[in-house]
Amino acid sequence: MMRFHVLTLFPEMVMQGLHTSIIGRAVENNCIKIEAVNIRDFSTDKHGKVDDYPYGGGAGMLMQAQPVYDAWHAIVHENAEKSKMPRTIYVTPQGTTFTQEYAFALAKEEELIFLCGHYEGIDARVLDEIVTDYVSIGDYVLTGGELPAMVMIDAISRLVPGVLHNDESAETESFHMDLLEYPQYSRPEVWHGKEVPKVLLSGDHGKIAQWRLEQSKLLTMERRPDLYEQYRRREKLIKRLSANKRQNFHMMECLASGRGTILADGEGILIYDKNVRTCMVNAESKTVAENLLPLIPPETKWVLSSQEFWNDILTEQGFKVACECLQACYTQRTPLPIRQKEIRPLTAEALPYLREHCKDLDADYLLGRVEANAVYGIFVGNQLAGFVGWHATGAIGMLYVDKSHRGQGLGSSLEAFAINRQLATGHMPYCHIPADNEAALKLQEKLGLYLSQEPLWYLENQPQK
Ligand code: SAM
Repeated sequence: MMRFHVLTLFPEMVMQGLHTSIIGRAVENNCIKIEAVNIRDFSTDKHGKVDDYPYGGGAGMLMQAQPVYDAWHAIVHENAEKSKMPRTIYVTPQGTTFTQEYAFALAKEEELIFLCGHYEGIDARVLDEIVTDYVSIGDYVLTGGELPAMVMIDAISRLVPGVLHNDESAETESFHMDLLEYPQYSRPEVWHGKEVPKVLLSGDHGKIAQWRLEQSKLLTMERRPDLYEQYRRREKLIKRLSANKRQNFHMMECLASGRGTILADGEGILIYDKNVRTCMVNAESKTVAENLLPLIPPETKWVLSSQEFWNDILTEQGFKVACECLQACYTQRTPLPIRQKEIRPLTAEALPYLREHCKDLDADYLLGRVEANAVYGIFVGNQLAGFVGWHATGAIGMLYVDKSHRGQGLGSSLEAFAINRQLATGHMPYCHIPADNEAALKLQEKLGLYLSQEPLWYLENQPQK
């Protein structure tokens, strides 16, 4: 369940606004919890005053630091034992513009605090102390932060699992993959003499999908040329990368799934997946690589490089070579047959087993993958005999089969299962195999995956001591 706290002078406005329709239903179903905290309740002034004149003069009043801080403190105090403090978002016209991407990022949090200003805003000293994110809903000025906070909570909530029902899915909506949604039609078939486009009545799902994509492109081109430019740039780069699929499959998948941001697409290619703080780099020469270096975001945790010369360059920057691997990619669209059928998602109960056999991955990461339903176990006579999963980057991995069950095709079944699952969810299946793991490399070829001719290197950013 995701929890929202709203610090406001008008709690009833927030509570009334967010307790109807889909968001109201989500609250009732305990998918989300919304609590409005009245800042005035924390005023130490005997008249409950929360505002005063700004020093230096100027129009209007300013919310004072003390009641805002105490209201915030009352919330975080409850959280004091938790390892992670919730993010505090001050809604302000001076902030970063809120987008669908921002909503996705915030939807990953378990708890958020919204701070709503009023009058001329809030004393800067308290903002400095408590705010983690300054966010605006657009370049205009409203009288208070309640509407912006409600707008953001609505957009974030509908991305929280369970809030939307299947038929209200957020997958194909506007801004998904930089395209606006296609036009939609409902009954009757003819209205004001206008007919519903014939293709939508054809029952041919392939043609309908094609038509919708074309319409999305036309609409985006017309109404949001800036977005369309981003879409076109990505499609062009995917096409360029497809000239050497075996080598570039990971980058193609990252772009095709909408996760990657293109930071360079000239002589050198640099794609950043901010969900996993991973940079994928590919340069024609060492000089090109050196020129790309300043574009690598400072918060990058991993670099996945396509040339060995990056190792020297990045080691100097504090990275450490973690693994040399070959890329195996499944370029067909047909699912693979699976021999063993007893494959089920693993729960946190299996963590000790996973940790024992996945020593190079840390416990929190493994738990995160289990919670994301991305690790599956294979069972022989109800006994867990191995597992497979897919990483947050999209790569299939974590393949393990108990020694006593090797040679029985369990590994093939697990990997085939993971491939089919990736295909079914619209992904391009691939995995990275340590270059010296002969057995795993053989398995890839047996399953019909293509291996890259050249290796790839994982480099980890070492935190400064
Ligand atoms: N004096 C402030 C300034 O120029 O930046 C504007 C204050 S505004 C009248 C009062 C409050 O409304 C702000 O503190 C903020 O919380 C909220 N607000 C107004 N416009 C907003 C916007 N576009 N996005 C987010 N919050 C906004």
